[in-house]
Amino acid sequence: MKSNYDLYCDHLRKLADVMFSSAVLQWDQETYMPSKGAEMRAGQLSTLAGIAHELSVDSTFGELLNKLKDDATLTERQKRNVELSLKDFNDRNKYTTEFVQTLSLAVSEAFVAWDEAKKKSDFAIFSPKLKLIVELKRKEAELLGYKQHPYDALIDQYEPGTTTADVERLFADIRNKLKPLIEKVLKQDAPRDEFMYRFFPRQKQWDLGMDILKQMGYDLEAGRQDESSHPFTIHFNANDVRVTTRVSETNFHEMIWSTIHEGGHALYEQGLPRTEYGLPLGEACSLAIHESQSRLWENNVGRSLSYWKANWKKVLDYFPEQMKDVSVEEFFKAMNKVVPSLIRTNADELTYHFHVLIRFEIEKGLIEGSIEVEDLPQVWNAKYKAYLNIDVPNDAEGVLQDIHWSHGSIGYFPTYSLGSFYAAQLFATACKQDDSIEQSIAAGNMKPLLTWLRKNVHSEGKFYPAPKLIEKVCGEKPDFRYFMEYANAKYGVF
Ligand SMILES: [Zn+2]
Repeated sequence: MKSNYDLYCDHLRKLADVMFSSAVLQWDQETYMPSKGAEMRAGQLSTLAGIAHELSVDSTFGELLNKLKDDATLTERQKRNVELSLKDFNDRNKYTTEFVQTLSLAVSEAFVAWDEAKKKSDFAIFSPKLKLIVELKRKEAELLGYKQHPYDALIDQYEPGTTTADVERLFADIRNKLKPLIEKVLKQDAPRDEFMYRFFPRQKQWDLGMDILKQMGYDLEAGRQDESSHPFTIHFNANDVRVTTRVSETNFHEMIWSTIHEGGHALYEQGLPRTEYGLPLGEACSLAIHESQSRLWENNVGRSLSYWKANWKKVLDYFPEQMKDVSVEEFFKAMNKVVPSLIRTNADELTYHFHVLIRFEIEKGLIEGSIEVEDLPQVWNAKYKAYLNIDVPNDAEGVLQDIHWSHGSIGYFPTYSLGSFYAAQLFATACKQDDSIEQSIAAGNMKPLLTWLRKNVHSEGKFYPAPKLIEKVCGEKPDFRYFMEYANAKYGVF
């Protein structure tokens, strides 16, 4: 006879099969689906979402979880799986059907309004829909419950174990420590970077991108790369993790950073424990840890001089004309150019965190009621002036630039900055614990780094909450000083 734990695994794996089948349809929709397929595809996805929802709130599954939570025969890992599943089950059951439907309708309408508002650069079109989203998110925080701040309940959905107070402490560091560094860097002469915007033929960029992925250790027998307008990573199980990239023939940055960034996400997914398929321990620890993996490869490795020295011959082989008057040092400086800008996704790795800080302050204000939706354009523009000394010319390039709020994603943004800070701490620890890592990167060999990440981060899945995972791996709590040490070292202003 099957044990309760076996029955639990069977149920979750069935749910995973449904959800990952739906993910395959989503991947197809973003890559190869012909345009006429869109209408029926929406219905297919909705049917699968309905089946997944029924499985996840199934009451006999709830009874099984409650039996298992007191089962003393379970191993530590099994207990952790059950604990996480039970929390998820209980959280889902806090929502009434009416609330779920209201939110889902509000999100669909908000997305349409946001899209139109952004095209017309007119916040007033989006404002009433966003107001409703904010009201519903406040209600959601009450439904889910929190200890100190209603925003805690919203962050918890993306980054369990991290609170509003934690994020506030972190952003105080950004204001106090990062701002002076940026000011110093901006006083230096800006590096030349016009060569990044020369003509780089698509196919050659594609080939270089594939070389980069292979060198990182991305397993092409357990994944593939395609093109899409918004690059993403999607997984169906650890043996099928796909990435997309974006290629611009007149902007060399796009392919390089989207390839390395998504490659970092994909390596994490390929390294998750296969035996835990469908169970919490088979999933990524949190969004910030996920982002730490993409940013570690993108910034700590990919924006380093030693990485490009190792790969310079390859770049010259593909692009001898475009790079004939460029040294590897100039290439390195061009990709680390710091310049305050309007758009978050184009920001350099230092000013980026002010974009996130602004969004966090606004979200927190909206949820606690100290900022009104109607005032957002003025609030947004004033913060861009204060933190980045930038005049925002219009709503499209200002308050309407991100899709997140129209999706109802409030509490998500801080995970981007947390990801960079965790990346710096993890990379410093990796280099300290294995002194062959830096030398190997300089020789174009990424294996020792990947091996370290596999052992210390990837194979753990969701066993620890993010701050605990950092503490266990690094021997100390998450600390912003690692990011500052990294930034100071790179930008040469000690
Ligand atoms: Zn990412």
